Amino acid sequence: MARITLDNLAHSYRSDPASEDDYALKELNHVWEDGAAYALLGSSGCGKSTLLNIISGLLQPSQGRILFDDRDVTHAETAERNIAQVFQFPVVYDTMTVRDNLAFPLRNRGRDEAYVAERVNEIARMIGMEEMLDRKARGLTADAKQKISLGRGMVRKDVNALLFDEPLTVIDPHMKWELRTQLKKLHHEFGHTMIYVTHDQTEALTFADKVVVMYDGRVVQIGTPEELFETPEHTFVGYFIGSPGMNLLPAEVEGSMARVGGQQIGLGRGYGPLSGKVEIGIRPEHARLSRDEGLPVTIRRIEDVGRHRIIRADFGGREINVIAGEDESVGPGMSRVAFDPARINVYADGWRVPGTA
Ligand code: ADP
Ligand code: MG
Repeated sequence: MARITLDNLAHSYRSDPASEDDYALKELNHVWEDGAAYALLGSSGCGKSTLLNIISGLLQPSQGRILFDDRDVTHAETAERNIAQVFQFPVVYDTMTVRDNLAFPLRNRGRDEAYVAERVNEIARMIGMEEMLDRKARGLTADAKQKISLGRGMVRKDVNALLFDEPLTVIDPHMKWELRTQLKKLHHEFGHTMIYVTHDQTEALTFADKVVVMYDGRVVQIGTPEELFETPEHTFVGYFIGSPGMNLLPAEVEGSMARVGGQQIGLGRGYGPLSGKVEIGIRPEHARLSRDEGLPVTIRRIEDVGRHRIIRADFGGREINVIAGEDESVGPGMSRVAFDPARINVYADGWRVPGTA
């Protein structure tokens, strides 16, 4: 297992990158701690696979270095890096049995057959394929083949890191949960450094100790699920995480007051002069309907989603969402939305401004 350091890393698929826009991966410095479970989260095209493939060595970065512990592996072959990588779509040997597919990485490293048999059985149990070990991979469903790919990724205990690139895409929804649980269990048991790529926030938040959020070729925040929820460092994190995401309202901020569409809103912290596009961000969980305080709104719709209700309101043509718990009343005349000042974040050009207490 290893600590993985990205030093001044950047990548462009172009041979003559001129501006930052030409980089699929913008300059990045980051240390992946040894033995931690990370999720790499972001929407399609933001550079997740590019980053993963650079770590595994499938791709040479156009700039910077990669270190495994203190060793520079920037120019080392994939095999030399001793990494297991599982891709979005199955990579299996069709003519081999499920058993031989699972055994392949172990035999490749010269492990003795008794160990191979024992480990293959363990893995088969984890992916629920004990009954299929003697079948040829050819003819199996994409779902089953992907489980083999996952199993092969997990079979070796002596890898430096385990990289998963949206591995559950083709897996049946009810099996997804089961496999994710198995991956977590594997992590607890062996403490591999794991990087799990996904565009699904639920998957990221349930799997990882730390979530690395990417947006447009950049890492915008690295944090625990709680940090991402309470203090999104970028407006993208605010609205990408959460359901619905954070409310964002253009504002003018002076000291500890914000002015939004002619209304005053008290903030929990004080701010100096801000430049660029200024917005306040507040999670629907920290907003509430009121009769007499807050922004005057028109309520468009109330959705009952079981545990709570989502109120879709309109304030001067902007949607504001409010989450009301079961014990909160939502009645006629409640046509204002109030915010908990301590939970309001202030953003300038997309980035959170910390402010002072
Ligand atoms: P993600 O995995 O987050 O969906 P990728 O890392 O695959 O994103 O892609 C990031 C950006 O790089 C995208 O704009 C994509 O079109 C571009 N890209 C990915 N692979 C290549 C390639 N082989 N050649 C040129 N551009 C690529
Ligand atoms: Mg990808």
